[in-house]
Amino acid sequence: MTTETFRTLKLTRDQEKKLYESWREFEAETPPYARFQLRPENCVITCYESGKTVFQGKDAMVYAAAFENAPVRTAESPSASGDILPQAGSDEVGTGDYFGPVCVCAAIVSEADMDLIRELGVRDSKKLTDQQIREIAPKLMQQLKYSLLIVGNSTYNRVHESSNLNAIKAKLHNQAYVNLMKKAPLPPFKVVDQFTPERSYYSYLKNEKQIVRGIHFETKAEDHYPAVGAASLIARYAFIRSMEQMSEAWDMEFVKGAGAAVDRCGIEFVRKYGYEKLGEVAKLHFKNTEKIKAAL
Ligand code: MG
Repeated sequence: MTTETFRTLKLTRDQEKKLYESWREFEAETPPYARFQLRPENCVITCYESGKTVFQGKDAMVYAAAFENAPVRTAESPSASGDILPQAGSDEVGTGDYFGPVCVCAAIVSEADMDLIRELGVRDSKKLTDQQIREIAPKLMQQLKYSLLIVGNSTYNRVHESSNLNAIKAKLHNQAYVNLMKKAPLPPFKVVDQFTPERSYYSYLKNEKQIVRGIHFETKAEDHYPAVGAASLIARYAFIRSMEQMSEAWDMEFVKGAGAAVDRCGIEFVRKYGYEKLGEVAKLHFKNTEKIKAAL
């Protein structure tokens, strides 16, 4: 079922640059009359001196889609692209909390969802109370296409032995998009709330089976892109629920963040259950672990 497809686009110089930067690791020998050629998986992209860019191969449409209606961002309108719909966005929660999992969500928001988004006042989940999140998130989860990954502490600690935090985040965001793609076609416009430079993001993914490319990276994206705002909210809801379940399971309250109250909570936990159980509820590489050990 090989379908060879073509897509020819006339890109701006900025878009050509972005295209090149996105996939430069797949650069091939430059053919005649071309500025450059890239050969990512299932696609050959040739940018010609004429100004035309040809996407060719099984996934031509997928790669070209990122540039079909991708906005050209200018310094004057840094987030004019916030209203590009449909859009997909992703964010992660829990990476700054000693206790509890890391939750990553990717969600799609289309024009038809915007009434609900406005009605619920979706914005950065960090500015909402837990109670507001408990009310809003289930409504979003009912309406939106989303995918959610929850990485428990035991798994997290095992993975962290061989990967740094940004590598873990990159793999989780990518996996969230891969999973989301199974539920609905991914819109051309995809935003990751940026935590690492674009090039590092893709280099962390170089051994992944499937890589979702053509992503726009922006810091504080949850404030400007409804899909990132929604993803952030769903991820925070999952985090809150996980913390509640942990409290039930271990019969004690776990404190969020990584401050002194967290150390005290950790000491209480270890006195009750032993140090060897700490890795089931906490991210052991945090400095809190040393403080907890020292206090015992
Ligand atoms: Mg974020």
